[in-house]
Amino acid sequence: MTAYDPENIFAKILRGEIPSTRVYEDEDTLAFMDIMPRADGHLLVIPKTPCRNVLDATPEQLAAVMTTVQKLARAVMRAFDAEGVTIQQFNEAAGGQEVFHLHFHVLPRHEGVSLRP
Ligand code: 5GP
Repeated sequence: MTAYDPENIFAKILRGEIPSTRVYEDEDTLAFMDIMPRADGHLLVIPKTPCRNVLDATPEQLAAVMTTVQKLARAVMRAFDAEGVTIQQFNEAAGGQEVFHLHFHVLPRHEGVSLRP
């Protein structure tokens, strides 16, 4: 497993070094809007502590992030009057991961509406 790189873009967002649209924060997690949304309301949930992906996560990090994912999945469904929600997560480049700080995508969904590429 490659080591965690503290210069990844989400670490910079956490440190406030680059801007983001923050929508939720607690002691352990942060959520902000995806810069290239594949659905209206597409947001990302990350732990505040260094973690490359699920393969690298502690049970505590997973529990904290999933608790926030569930909270925001419910909230974003209400906010966008959605009928469903897609929760997506990628691990390592071969698994589709592009930013190497653990994150979950939360995407509100409507019947018959595809995700944007
Ligand atoms: P993944 O690693 O899950 O494949 O993709 C990373 C996700 O982060 C993409 O959906 C991309 O649009 C998003 N992303 C990449 N750079 C930024 C950024 O600087 N700000 C925000 N808010 N999202 C980003």
